[in-house]
Amino acid sequence: MFGRLGSTHPPAGSRRLAHTARLAALATAVAMGGVAIAVTAAPSSAAACNGYVGLTFDDGPTGSTSALLNVLRNNGVRATMFNVGQNVQNNRAAAQAQVAAGMWVANHSWNHAHMTTMSQSQMQSDLSQTSSAIQSATGVRPQLFRPPYGETNSTLQSVASSLGMRQVLWDVDSQDWNGASVSAIVSAAGRLQNGQVILMHDGIQNTQNAIPQIMANLTSRNLCPGMISPSTGRAVAPDGGGGGNPTTPPPGGGGSCTATATTPNVWGDRYNTSVTVSGASSWTVVIGITSPQRVTTTWNGSFSWDSSGTVMTVRSNGSGNTFGFTTMMNGNSGARPQIRSCTAG
Ligand SMILES: [Zn+2]
Repeated sequence: MFGRLGSTHPPAGSRRLAHTARLAALATAVAMGGVAIAVTAAPSSAAACNGYVGLTFDDGPTGSTSALLNVLRNNGVRATMFNVGQNVQNNRAAAQAQVAAGMWVANHSWNHAHMTTMSQSQMQSDLSQTSSAIQSATGVRPQLFRPPYGETNSTLQSVASSLGMRQVLWDVDSQDWNGASVSAIVSAAGRLQNGQVILMHDGIQNTQNAIPQIMANLTSRNLCPGMISPSTGRAVAPDGGGGGNPTTPPPGGGGSCTATATTPNVWGDRYNTSVTVSGASSWTVVIGITSPQRVTTTWNGSFSWDSSGTVMTVRSNGSGNTFGFTTMMNGNSGARPQIRSCTAG
């Protein structure tokens, strides 16, 4: 039950991808040179998030939600899942797993009907039932709503608003519901700009297979996956206020801080990242590592990892406001750590 829209998009992004591939090939050639040539790069902002995009997956949960979540976790991705209420009711554990994996859960109607043909009271009942099912299964009340097929009108929008939800459509359609290839899905994501949202779906193998390349592309452009703001409908930094991830409440209810990463040393097989925090003296910074890269050495902070080893949490430990770590490339020379959030307190 995918969003069968008639819209089409030109196959943009191929030039950029070709360029990226060439750079990756060059970097690999350097890495395979045998001798570890120390390259002292100028401090760069390669590890920083200069913008955020919203990755969205509709129509779940499905039988392959857990596989999708594994791929997302392995790539350090947090995304927004527009769930169908009936599917949540039939698979509460999968909805719980979405939240446990750090995803945001949102409302995509009860059974994917064409909602603009409904009366106002039918709309109200449909969306309310869906939000209740999601809240019952996950403990989270959705703050975002996406109409099936993108079909909407002012009545539907006001009903959603009365239930505390903002309507969110998309800026880029991956066309995964329409049989798009992995490379076409990756190209679509390559068109995302800061603040924009892409439509994808749970239950499509090509979409799952595209995620590592989507992340490589975003990282190369200093874009990070973010949450969709319930107040603006745009992608923003996670934990940026209302609608933040319910599974990781800011410790002590602290405010935000700013973490700035540089990559002062790059060698053939590894590199160092230095992160400086401003705006707080006691802080927690969450950083995503792109698999198969792995952090091997750390300093000046208290480090912990999630079970996938790709999401690193660093807490201040009295060693000042600059910490660092060494990352082994393990064959992926292009990816750099992504700062996901900085929380004070
Ligand atoms: Zn849908």
